[in-house]
Amino acid sequence: MDLLVDSHCHLDFPDLAANLDALLDGMKENGVGHALCVSVNLEDFPRVQALAEAHANLYASVGVHPDYENLAEPQAAQLAVLARHPRIVAIGETGLDYFRLKGDLEWQRERFRQHIRAARASGKPLIIHTRAAAADTLRIMAEEGADGVGGVMHCFTESWEVAQQAMEMNFYISFSGIVTFRNAAALKDVARRIRLDRMLVETDSPYLAPVPHRGKLNQPAYVRYVAQEIAALRGIDMREVAAATTENFFNLFKAA
Ligand SMILES: [Zn+2]
Ligand SMILES: [Zn+2]
Repeated sequence: MDLLVDSHCHLDFPDLAANLDALLDGMKENGVGHALCVSVNLEDFPRVQALAEAHANLYASVGVHPDYENLAEPQAAQLAVLARHPRIVAIGETGLDYFRLKGDLEWQRERFRQHIRAARASGKPLIIHTRAAAADTLRIMAEEGADGVGGVMHCFTESWEVAQQAMEMNFYISFSGIVTFRNAAALKDVARRIRLDRMLVETDSPYLAPVPHRGKLNQPAYVRYVAQEIAALRGIDMREVAAATTENFFNLFKAA
């Protein structure tokens, strides 16, 4: 079975955590060897880290998602200390989201800057979430020197031009189940054009289940549908997509 990696999931979220054993079995049955559990706030971070400590094939990140308002702002030094743990392989998810939240979002941009500084201080790559905010995301990445540490643009839904600019800053592009959706023509085009050695795959589970499970609860095992779709779009064997994205994952996150 081809060994895939789910580069972005939220196994600590209640709907998934309640069925963890079944989800881990599902990964095994579908050739998904590893998954990265991504932190969204510091309150829940200990549960994310505990998953990576308890399971040799799970890794974790530390960060505060841009959609979480009204909490104590994480500071770069604090994040860098939490990232010292050997099972914490990345900083994030962080970034900008002008779709979910409106108004004065200067706090979101400042939070993003703190994460980039933490990544540079700890030497661990960034997991970046960007929605309806591509120009500001790229600008802040450049201003803060994100290219010095690199990372991934997760759940990518932006244009080919944005993908190119991110790749020039040493970022990988990660495709989620959205690439399987019928109305995602522009994204399918990005998945066709991008070099295999810059690509990752993910589920972002519990959200965004790929076709044929669209609308249902997502899980790491379903990353195989993402890889299958990309292989079909490029007219290559899925094994090639699996091999490349898995190699890219371990090159980027230096996960052991
Ligand atoms: Zn995200
Ligand atoms: Zn996420």
